[in-house]
Amino acid sequence: MVDAAILNCSLCGLPAYHPLKGQEGEVFCCHACQEVAILLQETPEKKQTENMQSAKLTRMTLNLRGLWCSSCAWLIEEKLKTAKGVGAAQVSFLQLQANLAYDPACTTPEQIRRSVRRLGYQAYLENEKPKDEEEGFFTRMLVGGMLSMHIMTSSGFIYLRQVMGWAGPDTQWLVQFFQWMEFGLSIPLVIILGLPILKSGLAGILRKMPNIHTLVALGTVSALALSTRNLLQHTGQVYFDTASMLLFLLTVGRWLEMQAYKAGYQAMEGLTGQIPEQATVIEGEGEKIITAALLSRGMRILVRPGERFAADGLIAKGLGDIDESMLTGESAPAVRQEGEAVYAGTASLDGSFEVIISAVGTNTRAGQIGRLLQHALWQRSPVERLADRLAAVMVPLAAILAGGTFLFWNARMGLETGLMNALAVLLIACPCALALATPLTLWQALARAAQNGVILRSTIALEHLAQVKEIFFDKTGTLTRLPLRLMATATVEASEEELLRKAASVELLSEHPLAQAITAEAQTRGLGLSEPEGFRLLPGAGVRAQVDTELVFAGNRQLMDREKLALPESLQQTAETWQHAGWAVVYTGWAGKVRGVIGLGESIRPEAVQALAQLSTQGKSVSVLTGDSPAAGARWQEWLGVPVRAGLSPEEKLKHIQATGNHSAMIGDGINDGPALAAAGVGISFARGTQVARSAAEAVLVREDLRLVPWLIALSKETRRRLHQNLVWAFAYNLVGLTLAVSGQLQPVIGAAAMVISSILVTQNALRLRSYPALKEEKPENPPAVGQAFAQPALRKTS
Ligand code: ADP
Ligand code: MG
Repeated sequence: MVDAAILNCSLCGLPAYHPLKGQEGEVFCCHACQEVAILLQETPEKKQTENMQSAKLTRMTLNLRGLWCSSCAWLIEEKLKTAKGVGAAQVSFLQLQANLAYDPACTTPEQIRRSVRRLGYQAYLENEKPKDEEEGFFTRMLVGGMLSMHIMTSSGFIYLRQVMGWAGPDTQWLVQFFQWMEFGLSIPLVIILGLPILKSGLAGILRKMPNIHTLVALGTVSALALSTRNLLQHTGQVYFDTASMLLFLLTVGRWLEMQAYKAGYQAMEGLTGQIPEQATVIEGEGEKIITAALLSRGMRILVRPGERFAADGLIAKGLGDIDESMLTGESAPAVRQEGEAVYAGTASLDGSFEVIISAVGTNTRAGQIGRLLQHALWQRSPVERLADRLAAVMVPLAAILAGGTFLFWNARMGLETGLMNALAVLLIACPCALALATPLTLWQALARAAQNGVILRSTIALEHLAQVKEIFFDKTGTLTRLPLRLMATATVEASEEELLRKAASVELLSEHPLAQAITAEAQTRGLGLSEPEGFRLLPGAGVRAQVDTELVFAGNRQLMDREKLALPESLQQTAETWQHAGWAVVYTGWAGKVRGVIGLGESIRPEAVQALAQLSTQGKSVSVLTGDSPAAGARWQEWLGVPVRAGLSPEEKLKHIQATGNHSAMIGDGINDGPALAAAGVGISFARGTQVARSAAEAVLVREDLRLVPWLIALSKETRRRLHQNLVWAFAYNLVGLTLAVSGQLQPVIGAAAMVISSILVTQNALRLRSYPALKEEKPENPPAVGQAFAQPALRKTS
């Protein structure tokens, strides 16, 4: 292509400066997106993204401004969906963005943008910088406030005249004077505060999609027009004070929402905004400072005490404390030394480090987390959809109610009462507060979780977590620490060396923790391994391959039986003793016979028992699913204090999880628990290395602490509680407010003030999640050191 246009990522819609090609020719902006896309294809969200990725369609993002509440977002989304040539569209009120796919043959980005602008909102293409909405907003609000205060004072004088009994023909000119003053002050006020509302309202009428502003604007304009008529004809009352106060209060409400929005946004940004913009690169003998954007894999950078790492990498030289709290929320610094990994955004406290870069930009752990969070915000959860739908029906409902109120009071008390009461109805029915509070609550929860080291892939995960009843744990690598340790071997008609060499060779290509422990041991002992041929992975059973001239099997007892390898009595006894002690046993055999058994021990993660106990206290039913032998399972049950279901094949594990449907959570390390994680209502896994995005789980623990699981469940419950509180409040508020307004008991200004107060209440309730207590960092009690106690010399070699 000669065209130098920058393609857009088919997942996130951002420009792909270094495009990566997917399997079906899609373009991704980064590895994280590519991986998330692969993942999505395996999850129920597939459908949705498929629509968006249809071959002929091009993706684009519009930055939006001037949205007052999520019903605006809904309106734009509806408009976009029906626009010519647009395949799919999604608008996020929180991110102020529209993501859409369009057919370049039918329409252009410019046309799409224009269709949004015609609705009265500002829309910017990706290469344009959106105007800062807050710029000048405060000044405008202040000037408007001053003007409306003067108007209120003027009308106060007129009122005073009546109350004090000065109302006579001789003071009538004063009334005229103050009324004209109000009129004069109202003109700049309408320009300063009213125009944005009027514009959006008018656009709504023109597009035949009236929004809440249309209604409010209609009411305010009628009040102003009526007042002007009365003023000119010297009859009846004027309502300049009411109209100006309304505009002022609406503006205040908007400003407060903008503040809440900003507070929410800052919480998110804090996670990824800490990567330094510059880095010191070591080249030959010298050092050079370059911008972080120019870093690439393999470069060597220097990070001094107090500085932050600009990229992910491995320590080549140096030792010291690193503050990783930005990624994990853990405040205690971690000691890191040569050969260990460091992550972009974390800070060196007291050491100088030379680091070889392994990942930069969006491929760093921080970058991946940022992407995942952005992605999560786009997944609208059922509660959000409910709030959106409520907002959508509230507009016509408010219109009908207000219309009815107007007709009723107009007939009984005249035009003016009718208008005022109808206005009060409109203001009370405005669904803005709730529509902002719902996503804001979920947003805060995501941010709070991330600050504590848990990345949630969607807000839906929060809802599922709050409903979890049964929790399943994987054992190896989840409740226990990797790597496993080789404790002992026993052989028959083979030397220990030969057994280990064969077992390690056949396990060379397996990623199972058992396999890794065996190959690691063989390599430390310096046993030359042979390349396995015809390697086959037998999930849930073991492995087999041709090693040298022999077909070698390594795996569990069932595999040996299935392959008809004779099991010598002595080996069987040894294996059983080990299993009763809680060890994992790998049987290894060739040429018709089991030649040896390898015993591997694991140690419980220090906080595991505490985490399991906390979950039980929360009333959850907790159990461990493992493929380990039933004998070992029984031992683990003692150590862990929760039921252990052992000897399960991967299918059986899945069945257990599927039986509990959406109310289950599965916690696994993701290495070989993918299907189980995906099948559970909520899958929770660990982020190992930088592959945060790869796991099939909805929640990823960046900080390896199992107590995060009960913490997360408590957080999700608290979130749900706040959402419900807000819904109940909104419902009660509308019921009482509307009853008063319809029956003519509520002045429009009181209605507007109530709206502002309600908005403050619900958004503050949402923001309170910001101070949800962090995970306590007390040291867990010393856990039992599994296996070690059992490493009796008598068992080390039985041949
Ligand atoms: P788990 O990880 O819970 O042990 P798996 O389904 O991965 O469950 O495996 C079940 C059992 O199969 C393991 O406990 C082990 O005995 C055996 N097994 C699986 N993979 C291997 C392997 N690569 N090498 C040896 N044994 C294996
Ligand atoms: Mg496992």
